[in-house]
Amino acid sequence: MFEPVLLRNVDAPDGHLLANYEAGGGYRALAKALGEHTPDEIIDIVKSSNLRGRGGAGFPTGMKWSFVPKRAGKPKYLCCNADEGEPGTFKDRILMERDPHQLIEGMAISAYAIGAETAYVYIRGEYVLAIHRLEQAIGEAHAKGYLGRRILGSDFSFIVHIHCGAGAYICGEETAMLDSLEGKRAQPRLKPPFPAVEGLYASPTVINNVETLVCVPHIVVRGFEWFRGIGPVKSPGPKLYCLSGQVRKPGLYELPMGIQLRELVEEYAGGPLPGRKIKAVIPGGVSAPVIPERGLDVGMDFDSLSAVGSMLGSAGVIVIDDSTCMVKVATRIIEFFHHESCGKCTPCREGLNWAVKVLRRIEAGQGAPGDLEQLKTLCKGIFGNTFCALGDGAAMGLRAALEHFEHEFVAHIEERRCPFH
Ligand code: SF4
Repeated sequence: MFEPVLLRNVDAPDGHLLANYEAGGGYRALAKALGEHTPDEIIDIVKSSNLRGRGGAGFPTGMKWSFVPKRAGKPKYLCCNADEGEPGTFKDRILMERDPHQLIEGMAISAYAIGAETAYVYIRGEYVLAIHRLEQAIGEAHAKGYLGRRILGSDFSFIVHIHCGAGAYICGEETAMLDSLEGKRAQPRLKPPFPAVEGLYASPTVINNVETLVCVPHIVVRGFEWFRGIGPVKSPGPKLYCLSGQVRKPGLYELPMGIQLRELVEEYAGGPLPGRKIKAVIPGGVSAPVIPERGLDVGMDFDSLSAVGSMLGSAGVIVIDDSTCMVKVATRIIEFFHHESCGKCTPCREGLNWAVKVLRRIEAGQGAPGDLEQLKTLCKGIFGNTFCALGDGAAMGLRAALEHFEHEFVAHIEERRCPFH
């Protein structure tokens, strides 16, 4: 039985209040970091833990921090990516609503490590309760000396601002998020320069996801060996999995990184609904290519999923049973990406528009024999030719649906109707 670490407070009554967080050992990690370690030592500890970013890309966190120049001659910033726009994902919302001090402590230690005195939490505007709880927690932390000037008697000063997004998926892309924070229209930036060198207000900036940041206090208190001892060596640690879709027990589960997808779905999430069979699973939010039921014996970690042509992404696990039409699933996903495309580059903007038209036609029973080839050609034209990962994610998702469920697309075209209606 895996003992939850990141979610240990979320079911406690009033677990979001400072007094309860402190009663469970909260802010001990911050005191330890400031009292016993230099910023470089914190970076080394996080590097040694092999913590990889939980937002989707899986980049090593300590390495990202080490790219920040020591003497930039400019302020440095920490940005917490709490936009969580990936469909099927709700882990960061729960962390912020139920245990906001865990995030604030993680941010304070991370800011100390990189030398930042100011941080922004870029939070999804729809997360009204999370915004309220974070504001409350920031006020409590200031009053108790965990935020503000000379924290816990050290030379380190640090403040956190909250910035609410206005509902654009692209703001979850880190450089688009920086543009949005600067008051501009959110569109991804050309890299290099990377944010660690030239990010917010052209200053060195580290952007980390909520779940990544909440891992940091536990690594500082329990040691990097503890963290590295959970799950695969190359991507270790406790991991939050968001289970949704056609399963008996949807919800948020904390388990070791690398758990088998089949075990997650069939044991923890209770398996399919009565009388149904699992047809497929999307393992990491809708950007992650779908895996058919026969492929569920795979580890839920960055490398294992990548080896089978999918990805861990945000670990938004969406379960699809045999009552669901995969043409409809693919159409809804591509409609989503088309709607959320920022329009900056042609393959994504025009290619997805075209793909939506073809998919809607097929779904309505009006598809033509050449439509599948056209969809495959569109995927080729989009993948690898777009400015940011949104276009690639859409193309990979559509390609996987065509590869594994081509027979359903063909049935729609040949029968001139949806066989599932
Ligand atoms: Fe914008 Fe799409 Fe291009 Fe990304 S891939 S920059 S979302 S148009």
